[in-house]
Amino acid sequence: MTAPAAPPVPAQISACRICADRFAATKTAHDPQPVVWFDRGARILVASQAPGMRAHLSGKPFDDPSGVRLRDWMGVDAATFWDRRNVAIVPMGFCFPGYDAAGGDIPPPRICARTWRRAALDHAGEPPVTLLIGGYAQDWHLGKGRVTDRVRDWRALAPRIWCLPHPSWRNTAWLKKHPWFEAETLPALREAIRDALKGSTP
Ligand code: SF4
Repeated sequence: MTAPAAPPVPAQISACRICADRFAATKTAHDPQPVVWFDRGARILVASQAPGMRAHLSGKPFDDPSGVRLRDWMGVDAATFWDRRNVAIVPMGFCFPGYDAAGGDIPPPRICARTWRRAALDHAGEPPVTLLIGGYAQDWHLGKGRVTDRVRDWRALAPRIWCLPHPSWRNTAWLKKHPWFEAETLPALREAIRDALKGSTP
C-alpha cells in the first residue's frame, strides 16, 4: 500500500504549531495562528515580515494601516491585493510573534523561515515581480545589508525585485527623510506592478 500524499504546503503551514510554547510565554499568551495567503501562479510576491495583531485576529495579511500604506505604494485596491491570483504573501514568520517591551512586534521566529520558507516559495512559483519588505526578508533573499541602501539602489534589481521599507507607521519619519522614495521609486514600482497584473513580464 502506498503512503497517503502529504497535504499541500499551505495546508501544512496552516496546521503548524511549532511556536506554541514561545507564543504562550509572550505578554499576549496567544496561540499560533498561521496567516497563509499564497497560491500557485500569483503575479506578485510580497515577501514580508510577520502578521501583526490585527492580521492575527482577522486571518488576512496586511489587514491594518500598514496594509493601507502598502496598497497605496503598489497602486492597487484592496480587492486586487487580496486576490491570491494576483498577490502571494509569504512572510518570514507566518504567525503574529507577540509584542516586545516597547510595544513593537517581536521579530519573526527564525524557525519559521527555516521550516517553511523554501517550500512556500517553491509552491508560489516565480512571480514576475517580488517585493522584499523590511530587513528580515531582504537579508534572507539577498544576504546581509542595510535597508536604506537597498531601497535607495532600487534600480539595480528593478523591475523584478523591489526592496521596500516596512510600511508601518513607525517608518513615517524614514519616509519624510527620504523624499526620493515617493517621488522616484513608487511611480516606477507602480508601473512594474501594473505590467505584472496585465500579464506581461517586465
Ligand atoms: S510562526 Fe511559523 S513555525 Fe511558528 S507556529 Fe507559526 S507557522 Fe509554525
